[in-house]
Amino acid sequence: MSEIEALLRPELRGRSPYGAPQLDVDVQLNTNESSYPVPSEVVDAVMAALEEDLVGLNRYPDREFTDLRKALVAYLEQQSGVSLRPERIWAGNGSNEVLAHLVQAFGGPDRTALGFTPAYSMHPIISENLGTRWVDGQRDEDSFDLSVDSAIEQTKAVDPHLVFLCSPNNPTGSALPFEVIEAMLEAAPRAIVIVDEAYAEFAREGTPTALSLLEAHPRLVVTRTMSKAFTLAGGRVGYLAADEAIVDALRLVRLPYHLSTQTQTIARVALEHAGPLLETVEAIKDQRDRLVTELASLGLTPVPSDANFVLFGGLADAPATWQALLDRGVLVRDVGIPHHLRVTAGTPQETTRFLTALSELAPTHALTKENL
Ligand code: PMP
Repeated sequence: MSEIEALLRPELRGRSPYGAPQLDVDVQLNTNESSYPVPSEVVDAVMAALEEDLVGLNRYPDREFTDLRKALVAYLEQQSGVSLRPERIWAGNGSNEVLAHLVQAFGGPDRTALGFTPAYSMHPIISENLGTRWVDGQRDEDSFDLSVDSAIEQTKAVDPHLVFLCSPNNPTGSALPFEVIEAMLEAAPRAIVIVDEAYAEFAREGTPTALSLLEAHPRLVVTRTMSKAFTLAGGRVGYLAADEAIVDALRLVRLPYHLSTQTQTIARVALEHAGPLLETVEAIKDQRDRLVTELASLGLTPVPSDANFVLFGGLADAPATWQALLDRGVLVRDVGIPHHLRVTAGTPQETTRFLTALSELAPTHALTKENL
């Protein structure tokens, strides 16, 4: 053990950091970003607003991000029909930071967080980094669904302080039925129940949002991000809606002035231009549905998706297929589920590149398990 490793908190020794590869390849379909650039009218509006801000950078930003909060409220009302007061909104540098604030405030030593694997890999990492015990609940092995009965049973056995649900779920793509969320709130009477809705804008018609449950459930938190549908992953803006008392608690743990002036401005102006920014959502959903259909016709087993990505199984050797796709300039994600890979829905051209590369592999590669 090196001298520095010996000084590290013991529970961090030997751990690997989050590390989706950032490689310079033609077709990047591995981190569920939008493949579409920010439209020029939005760039122009952001530039004009930032110019006004720059002279005022001698002052700290608005600690309460008041204008951004109002813009988020307006957007959520328009997107989901749920009307919230600005006091119920919190924001951070990506929803990862917002999730960390929640764990800082409600987790910690002697406390337990429960999630249902496979789900977003950062939920356990954030929890454990902040000293919170993580319990890996399970989903159905084949469908990746989480039934009400199984969720209740697993939750009662743990009696957690935090529950992480992800809907639509990353990496499986499917949204959770409301019954599971409501059952969790009952089965975990002392828990803050977090529904991570990073991909909500891509959900199929008729998929409800947990925002509509907030009024009735003061321990429920819904987190969202501008990194996906808003095509703003580089802007680093995530947010949540919750009871005002939860938002108050997060002020205790955030670092002072955590949201820079420029971040607040970029997010606010982007929200004012939600129309043009979200224009590509339907096109992305079309590519997602195309991926599901065409992966199935290659003999693979895609999981139906409410997100901007598709998890597909049936691969003989997922790491080998991942590498072979990369050799053809297509980067997808190996999320560590045997025989599965995850691919982001990008532009029609990117989908074609991915599907072509995959079908070219089939004859030599024993692509599917059946071909082994
Ligand atoms: N939640 C889920 C389910 C995600 O997939 C991601 C990003 N991949 C995040 C949260 C975090 O995104 P960000 O910090 O960019 O908002």
